[in-house]
Amino acid sequence: MTVFLYILAIILAWMIGSVGFSFVNTMAYRFPRQKKILKEHFCCDLCETQIKAYEAVPVFSYLFLKGRCRYCGEPLVKRDFVNEIIGGFAGLLIFFRFGDISDISSSFILSSPIDIVVHFNLWKLITLLILLLMYCVLDLVILVDHDTMEIPNRFVIVMLYIAVAAMVFVPGVSLVSHIIGAVCISVPMFLITLAIPGAFGGGDIKLVAAVGLMLGWKLTLIGFLIGLLLGGIYGIIQLITKKKGKKEHFPFGPFLCIGFMTAVICGMDIINAYIKLAAFIHG
Ligand SMILES: [Zn+2]
Repeated sequence: MTVFLYILAIILAWMIGSVGFSFVNTMAYRFPRQKKILKEHFCCDLCETQIKAYEAVPVFSYLFLKGRCRYCGEPLVKRDFVNEIIGGFAGLLIFFRFGDISDISSSFILSSPIDIVVHFNLWKLITLLILLLMYCVLDLVILVDHDTMEIPNRFVIVMLYIAVAAMVFVPGVSLVSHIIGAVCISVPMFLITLAIPGAFGGGDIKLVAAVGLMLGWKLTLIGFLIGLLLGGIYGIIQLITKKKGKKEHFPFGPFLCIGFMTAVICGMDIINAYIKLAAFIHG
C-alpha cells in the first residue's frame, strides 16, 4: 500500500507541475496582449472557441488532439506543449528534493484527521507549494521576457508576495540572510547600470531583489552566477554565429530565472562542493 501512495504522490507532483506551467502558458499568451487572464471557461486562444475540460489537460490533450485545435484546425503552440512537460518534471524535481517520502507512508496508518495533518507534515506541503509557485512565476518571466524583452512589474510584485510567504513558512534561512539576499546582487546591478546605461534591465534588477529576498544571500549568489554563466555562453555563441547582427541585446531574464531554479534544487550542494574543494586545495 505504501508503494501505491508513493506512486500516487509522484503522479500528483507531475500533474500539479504541468497544470501550473500550463496556466503559465495561458498567462504568457494573454498578458502581453492585454487579454483577460481568467475566463469563465476553457477556450482556444487562437479561435476563442469554448473547449471541453478534457481538451485542456496538460500534455495529454496536445497528444490526443494531434497538436491541432479541433475547432479551427490551427496548430497548437509546440512551445506550450514542451513547457507543460517541463512543468511536470519541475513538479517531480521539487517533490523529490524537498518532499519527505516517509511522511506519506506513515500517514497511511493513521486514524484521526488531526493525526493525518500532523503526520503529513503540513508545513512541508506549504514549502512545496511555495517553491512550485516560485517556479511558475520564473517560468512566466522566461516566456514573457523572451517574447517581449520586458519583465512586467506585476510579476515582480507577485514574486515579492511569494518571498514574504517563504520568509514566514519555509525554515532554514535567517531573516538577516533574506534581507542581504534582497540587496547583495540587485544593488551592484543597479550601480553598474548607473555607470553603464543599459547594462542590466530594470526588470532584471527588481526580479533579482525579489528572488533574493526569498532565497537568502547564498542561493541568490549561486543562482545569479549560474545565470551569468549561461547568459555569457549564449552571448558568445551569438557572437560567433553572428545570428543577432546589429541587434546586440538579448533578454537576460530567462538565464537569471534558470539560474535561480537550479540554485533552489542544488545550490547548497554546489556551495558544499566548493567549500570541500577549497579545503582540499589549502590542505
Ligand atoms: Zn481554435
